[in-house]
Amino acid sequence: MPDFPLADRLSGLPPYLFAEIDRLRREARARGMDIIDLGVGDPDQPTPPHIVRKMQEAAADPENHRYPSYEGMPRFREAVAGWYRRRFGVTLDPATEVVSLIGSKEGIAHLPLAFVNPGDATLVPDPAYPVYSIGTLFAGGEPIPMPLRAENGFLPDLDAIPSAALSRAKILYVNYPNNPTAATADTGFYARLVDLASRHGFIVAADSPYSEMSYDGYRAPSFLEAPGAKEVGVEFHSLSKTYNMTGWRCGFAVGSRKVIAGLGKIKTNVDSGLFQAVQVAGIEALEGDQSCVEAMRKTYAERRDVFLAGLRAAGIEVETPKATFYVWARVPGGATSAAFAAGLLSKAGIVATPGNGFGPAGEGYVRFSLTVDKSRLAEAVARIRRTGF
Ligand SMILES: *Cc1c(COP(=O)(O)O)cnc(C)c1O
Repeated sequence: MPDFPLADRLSGLPPYLFAEIDRLRREARARGMDIIDLGVGDPDQPTPPHIVRKMQEAAADPENHRYPSYEGMPRFREAVAGWYRRRFGVTLDPATEVVSLIGSKEGIAHLPLAFVNPGDATLVPDPAYPVYSIGTLFAGGEPIPMPLRAENGFLPDLDAIPSAALSRAKILYVNYPNNPTAATADTGFYARLVDLASRHGFIVAADSPYSEMSYDGYRAPSFLEAPGAKEVGVEFHSLSKTYNMTGWRCGFAVGSRKVIAGLGKIKTNVDSGLFQAVQVAGIEALEGDQSCVEAMRKTYAERRDVFLAGLRAAGIEVETPKATFYVWARVPGGATSAAFAAGLLSKAGIVATPGNGFGPAGEGYVRFSLTVDKSRLAEAVARIRRTGF
């Protein structure tokens, strides 16, 4: 049998840090343990029925069975522009400032192929969603971490970025409301980012899939609300978290026409667009009844309150998240993230993600996802209390 060694770009990736947790989860299951999985960032609720119905109709229409356009149907891009105008007061030209994506992950991963040459750098938050670094590595670039620390509200310290890194950087990634820390950013932060990007000539890539998942009246701003933002960057968005549509693969990027055109050029060469029936359902999601969004917020806010009360009663330190379905908790007693997560699983049957899995600056934290119902979350915190971490 021939040997097929993996290309360096794959074999050079950092080791899969969740492998140990996966092994422990399998072992615990095999022992018959009842597992409460708070490890994955995937909504457990179904897509709202009015969106599913639209998809059923659109899937039956032969008009939608052929190759879609690369950049998305004009009507879909208009729906995106309309949503940005209503939600953020941001004006977008649907023809040049919006592109559809096969899930926002696809666009995030492809962006560096359009703008990063081997030897260039990107600035990526640490801890972070791994795709910013991996997309950079696939393009031959070097991801330079920007540590997110509690004392800075988990925002990157823009004044601490070395000037050599600023001059090599082609893209700077930010993600607010944030996965995994649940931190939020205000327009003042985005304005400082626009200023830095225009002085150093790099692209800002703001990843914002959790903008609608927020509580207690808080509403996250868009990066594009900052004056001049559209000249220096793009925002990635997704229906995945807002409308429980992770499986549908429906996202979009908006902003700088040059950046959108560059990303579009890559996509023209590697994919053939987003299934039109999914785009039709996406239009329904963005323009139809929004009461499902309010219901989603209520569900997670209730879960959050049950879970936080229990964690605090167990002596675990945690901030109340204003947004996202994540709880980013300090590991008690000075244990490592990996040891604490392993103990949670083997002693309490709870899967949580060790913070260092998102980057070295995540050490000392674990991330819980609020993706099981209230009674299971109550059971989880009861087990944590009983186990006595
Ligand atoms: C869930 C998530 C995404 C969205 O992914 P899709 O590909 O649109 O489903 C993007 N960024 C972050 C940080 C996420 O957590």
